[in-house]
Amino acid sequence: MQKYNYGRQSIDNDDIDAVLSVLKSDYLTCGPKIKEFENAVCQYTGAKYCVAVSNATAGLHIAALAIGLRPGDEAITSPITFLSSANCMCFTGATPTFADIDEQTANIDPEEIRRKITSKTKAVIPVHFAGQSCDMAKIYDIAKQNNLFVIEDAAHAIGSEYKGDKVGSCRYSDMTVFSFHPVKTITTGEGGAVTTNSKELYDKLCALRAHGTHKDGEMQNTWEYEMRELGYNYRMTEMQAALGISQLKKIDKFKKRRREIVAFYNKELRLPHLIEKDFSDACFHLYPILVENRRDFYFKAKEKGLNLQVHYIPVHTQPYYARFGYKKGDYPKAEAYYEKCISLPLYPSLTDEDLMEIVRRIKDIL
Ligand SMILES: *Cc1c(COP(=O)(O)O)cnc(C)c1O
Repeated sequence: MQKYNYGRQSIDNDDIDAVLSVLKSDYLTCGPKIKEFENAVCQYTGAKYCVAVSNATAGLHIAALAIGLRPGDEAITSPITFLSSANCMCFTGATPTFADIDEQTANIDPEEIRRKITSKTKAVIPVHFAGQSCDMAKIYDIAKQNNLFVIEDAAHAIGSEYKGDKVGSCRYSDMTVFSFHPVKTITTGEGGAVTTNSKELYDKLCALRAHGTHKDGEMQNTWEYEMRELGYNYRMTEMQAALGISQLKKIDKFKKRRREIVAFYNKELRLPHLIEKDFSDACFHLYPILVENRRDFYFKAKEKGLNLQVHYIPVHTQPYYARFGYKKGDYPKAEAYYEKCISLPLYPSLTDEDLMEIVRRIKDIL
């Protein structure tokens, strides 16, 4: 029986050739492919600057450091996200806080953000869940009224648009962070990128990616460099960058197929699913449905060769987060969503026959 995962990478011969040619070249890291990939991401998203990093978690970490997040500060994100969106706050010693979701999109609700702002709040990290952009104009408005930085967690959302702008353009944010993990829309194996329109933030991100080192002025012509803050080694390799360049060329094709699959499931299954808002043109990363007995559904699907996944266990319910005083019941909409959600297979290489087969198996379970 053919097995289907909820997501998987799409790698073709062009991708393989791109990586092989780097392996035969002079540079495996710190070479020309990184800059080329960063330029391609800028070109695609419309952002001025891009910093490629080893993964999105690293990108979120240095983005949080670049805005000066530190102990005593608070930042706000969604409970329905992967751990990194909140963990990046903890890395800096800041206190993670959450704002509940809008049930239609499972995205953070701007009005809930407003309610959670305190005198300590320094930033908000909206997450574009399943690939659909949050209502960024509203979030940016609230952020500017309260002097907050905005970092978009766009791990799901490369290729997506908000009101005609590409996610990553940073029109309504200070920085946007992408992930290129294999289940995401384009992949570099592990990898991520941070886009920004601020030269100041760009310079900080570059230094933080490379141990906090700077090489400016006369130093550019010598062996010298200066470490001016504590940074990390969060670089991407040349092989990854070459794969990223090749993958990015296919993103519009990927997006078209992902949207076709979502439309097919909506029409054929007619199960409760996310609603796409008028401002959104999403490159969908996930197709979550809501089912009544989710644990049962999960195991029955597994017996039928469908390896589904749940996105996400609300972050504030994780044992580690109890130290901040969070408990079950704090974010009722997020928790109600979690009780029923489960993500169906969604990736570009699924054929029409695959989709009909998947729908057949799901109808069998229901
Ligand atoms: C995948 C993901 C991340 C982390 O990405 P990595 O590249 O694996 O570090 C962060 N946030 C969200 C919402 C994600 O889905």
